[in-house]
Amino acid sequence: MRKLFILFSLFFLTKAWTQPVKDPLRSKFVLVIHGGAGTILKSQMTPEKEKAYNEALNNALTIGYTILKKGGTALDAAEAAVRSMEDNPLFNAGKGAVFTNEGKNELDAAIMNGQTLAAGSVAGVTTIRNPISAARAVMEKSPHVMMVGAGAEKFARQQGLDIVDPSYFYTEERWKGLQRAWKADSAKMQMDHTDTSKNAGTGYGEFFYSPLGVGGKYGTVGAVALDRHGNLAAATSTGGMTNKKFGRVGDAPIIGAGTYANNKTVAISGTGWGEYFIRLVMAKSISDMMEFGKIKLKAAAEEMIMKRLPALGGDGGLIAVDKEGNIAMPFCTEGMYRGYIKEDGKATVKIYKQ
Ligand code: ASP
Repeated sequence: MRKLFILFSLFFLTKAWTQPVKDPLRSKFVLVIHGGAGTILKSQMTPEKEKAYNEALNNALTIGYTILKKGGTALDAAEAAVRSMEDNPLFNAGKGAVFTNEGKNELDAAIMNGQTLAAGSVAGVTTIRNPISAARAVMEKSPHVMMVGAGAEKFARQQGLDIVDPSYFYTEERWKGLQRAWKADSAKMQMDHTDTSKNAGTGYGEFFYSPLGVGGKYGTVGAVALDRHGNLAAATSTGGMTNKKFGRVGDAPIIGAGTYANNKTVAISGTGWGEYFIRLVMAKSISDMMEFGKIKLKAAAEEMIMKRLPALGGDGGLIAVDKEGNIAMPFCTEGMYRGYIKEDGKATVKIYKQ
């Protein structure tokens, strides 16, 4: 009888030991999103347009919130929020992406898991309906971090992702934006053809280059989240910048520049003049200031966006959430489409400086 009792106890003890310990779900969770920064002025906005942006941002927040509330992961919430904005032609990502100098749509995206520092990105893709999901597939289904162009597209197809004809990304508004940029190009060239020094330092030789796409807006989309397991994730997707040269890659798919997540510190997604975000290694610099300099999120993010970015000649903004759930949304432009939602389910959406 005693032997039987010992055997039974051993059996149950071993079972208890080998059961995976479920992490208790925390009450705190946060999702922050952006739809691009730039010269977004109330005086230039129609009530209809403002309503459409508010609805699109609220919709993305609700989609992500539903996932986080159920105990879903920060990665799933960030990807889903970005997908919804990629599908919305209002934003410069997925459908509605801006055109390159050659009249094409070349898309970039990246995603990062703060728990494992796993990351995935795609650049210069022209046929993947939701580049953010391709970035996630690179992260989870390949041994790589970054895939570009035709190779990334082949991989996305193999993974069963939605492939579309490049014409899917066309929108009249973005096409008109390119026409305006072309016009500005030729006007500038006529003006400056005797004195090319006027273009010195732009990095674009004799071409006029308008980082804000003449329309004055960056329209990249992004999401960062802290989930109920305490994990952080970041996701960014973009068409880049109007009139960008063929093959140009921005900051969004560069891990540490426009996208970064680390459970020890912060999750960040940026929008702005990508070349400057790359040169400043924007997102990772903020994470490093927090990790090694013991600087708080708000101070670190403001130092980079409000001081170092304009000092170098760039502009833009970012969204961030740290491991404690603190958020930051600094920008040095006129406005930034942005919003956040926390465990209480109250969505806050903002466009202008407030
Ligand atoms: N950061 C993006 C890029 O340079 C542009 C944007 O934010 O809209 O590609």
